Amino acid sequence: MAKFCQKCGKKLPLFASGVLCRDCEISYKAELARIEAELAAQLDKAEKEIIATKDVTEQQLELLKKQDKNSLINLYSKIYDQFESDKELEEEEINALQKIQEAFNLTNEDVKFDERVRPYIYVNTIRKEGTLPTVDLQIEGGTPVVLKKGEVVHFADTAVLKELKSVSLGYSGGSNGISFPIAKGIRYRVGAHRGHVVKEDRFVETSQGVLIITNQRLFLHPFAGHKPLSIPLNKILSYQCFNNGIEVYKEGREKGYFLAIDKAGSVELFGLCLGHLLGQ
Ligand SMILES: [Zn+2]
Repeated sequence: MAKFCQKCGKKLPLFASGVLCRDCEISYKAELARIEAELAAQLDKAEKEIIATKDVTEQQLELLKKQDKNSLINLYSKIYDQFESDKELEEEEINALQKIQEAFNLTNEDVKFDERVRPYIYVNTIRKEGTLPTVDLQIEGGTPVVLKKGEVVHFADTAVLKELKSVSLGYSGGSNGISFPIAKGIRYRVGAHRGHVVKEDRFVETSQGVLIITNQRLFLHPFAGHKPLSIPLNKILSYQCFNNGIEVYKEGREKGYFLAIDKAGSVELFGLCLGHLLGQ
């Protein structure tokens, strides 16, 4: 059965693989390339303008609507990198980034907001107002957090509590002894012993929940079936942030707590809050 070009109607060769004739195929590809180049130029222009003005106009947002999501995330990242190249993110820069994020429904995960932007919001608030931002804490599907009088929440994220526990690692130094035949089929074994039990202090998971930093305490609001942990700020002897969590030492307790936190940005924020609250 004869096939015809979908665009110009010209009869196609018998074994044509596409739906367009050669000429239409060529002009179609040229048109695609032209659109691609135009979109790329638009992105480039928007990037330069936004970086220069530290603002995003409605008109720019309207034009950018033609871009695909990955290009927009890429644009956000390029602008972020420029804004942040001085290791600061000013309020107007944060606002511009948020406009882009909102206009194109980019999620916090898409733009790594918690890691890249949120810490600067905290830093700026501390600088400008001498205080930490407060958040309205809502835990989905969980029991409500009971706050004390005058207590406000500054930051929260899920965490796993690990505590140092003595664990048995089994026997060490045991020996199988030597065995030798004393009669056909019977072997005699000498010198076998089990060695000594080896124990070691190790971090063992003891609870899970939402770790909350308030103006009064560090509090692990436990998930169902887990235990809570509350450390008043004035009982914190020392703490240290690692990229996978925070180690906290509490007055009157020899062994530290380790609060494992998945998100790198969250550790930074807990550290920022603790630093500010403990007057460092
Ligand atoms: Zn054609």
